[in-house]
Amino acid sequence: MGWNLDNSYARLPKSFYTIQNPTPVRAPELIIFNNDLAKGMGLDLDVLQGAEGVAVFAGNEIPDGASPLAQAYAGHQFGHFTMLGDGRAILLGEQFTPSGERVDIQLKGSGRTQYSRGGDGRATLGPMLREYIISEAMHGLNIPTTRSLAVVTTGEAVMRETQLPGAILTRVAVSHIRVGTFQYAAHFGSVDDLKALADYTIERHYPDIDKNNDRYLALLQAVIKQQADLISKWMLVGFIHGVMNTDNMTISGETIDYGPCAFMDVYNPETVFSSIDRQGRYAYGNQPYIGAWNLARFAETLLPLLHDDEKEAIKIAETEIATFPKQFRHNWLAGMRAKLGLFDENPQDEALIEGFLSLMQKYKADYTNTFLALTFNDIEKTCLYGHEDFMKWYEEWETRVNQQDKPKSDFQQLMRDSNPAIIPRNHRVEEALEAAVEKGDFSVMKKLLKVLSDPYAHTSEQVEYATLPTPSNQPYRTFCGT
Ligand code: AMP
Ligand code: MG
Repeated sequence: MGWNLDNSYARLPKSFYTIQNPTPVRAPELIIFNNDLAKGMGLDLDVLQGAEGVAVFAGNEIPDGASPLAQAYAGHQFGHFTMLGDGRAILLGEQFTPSGERVDIQLKGSGRTQYSRGGDGRATLGPMLREYIISEAMHGLNIPTTRSLAVVTTGEAVMRETQLPGAILTRVAVSHIRVGTFQYAAHFGSVDDLKALADYTIERHYPDIDKNNDRYLALLQAVIKQQADLISKWMLVGFIHGVMNTDNMTISGETIDYGPCAFMDVYNPETVFSSIDRQGRYAYGNQPYIGAWNLARFAETLLPLLHDDEKEAIKIAETEIATFPKQFRHNWLAGMRAKLGLFDENPQDEALIEGFLSLMQKYKADYTNTFLALTFNDIEKTCLYGHEDFMKWYEEWETRVNQQDKPKSDFQQLMRDSNPAIIPRNHRVEEALEAAVEKGDFSVMKKLLKVLSDPYAHTSEQVEYATLPTPSNQPYRTFCGT
């Protein structure tokens, strides 16, 4: 099958995991398989899609070299600290890829574990396919993310509000170490446990950190930098994670846990899709603040490693956390300039960018399509066109881009490379899921995945996917993906 597995995680102190196999299922069937990803991981495409491979994706067979386990972690959920852990996931092991990377292979929906609390340990087909689609779309958008290797149905029904088909997603990640893993170590473990986790994380994700020199401070700095990069990328494409609990924030800087996430249509910083986020804690515009809040929780876990004197340690942590807003803003501005075709920097750019966003908000313009209209010079198609304040802005923007010492084709190219032709629009994702789950027709999803795989290609095939849904008086709602 091409497995080349290790499990370095199992060499951490025993309290970090529970050794445990997935629970076998009755009649597994392969629904979708990620050829490109599998190829890059050195896996055998044919064998994996046959009975032997499907048995692995279902948790019915354990591949050679695997040592399955469920990871322990804690986390702040909507601001409240609690003990969590892999309640329905099993880490099979870490695959060494031909390019020398180490990636986690995790089955999600593989049965109960010690951390399941009241849950059944299972997942249903719709949410697993949704995670597959959105995570692969994020990858296409060049945003760090966990990937999806396969989805199998289990042949078993799962009880939610009604009976639904059970499914298992095989998730691939550079690791599943979360802010919540550090919270678990700090809260329930010894300082030695915490140190073991921090050293392991440095080795695995930040090997360039100088081991002799304040390495835990360097780890904190590196994680802040990764998250400032990640969240700015989310903001630039209008992605709303929806459940930025600390257990859903990775230390590697990959996006993880595609539950109630969705992409914003009309530009509005207050946009919330998640049915359970009643206070708007994880609203689009709040994401950078929540990012900083989560990083502060991460920094707290490192206090014993930052300085022997707690007061000094807090001072060090605070200084670092305070750099996040600036790093985020810097990345975001650079990205926004590119979206507007600006190569160089000008002190007026911030006002130009903010002015554009507030006009979009005022006139309820679609975020992605308005940038596209600027890119392709068909601004008259947007709802902004003709409004005096927008026409004034447009003139200022044209003057600003044309002032650059570059041919027009250069900034147009920059805009094409910075403004996606397609995002996974909610109605398109729903349409694909409905065809797959209700009718067993996977062609809609496969076509959607194809156009999402290269959103900056601007092909004619992608044009229809930019169409907005017919207006509805029911706002789009997402659920926690169980
Ligand atoms: P999430 O909202 O996906 O971050 O999940 C939060 C916690 O709930 C994690 O510990 C999950 O493993 C657990 N969980 C979610 N769904 C289930 C389920 N059906 N059975 C057991 N645990 C679950
Ligand atoms: Mg989670």
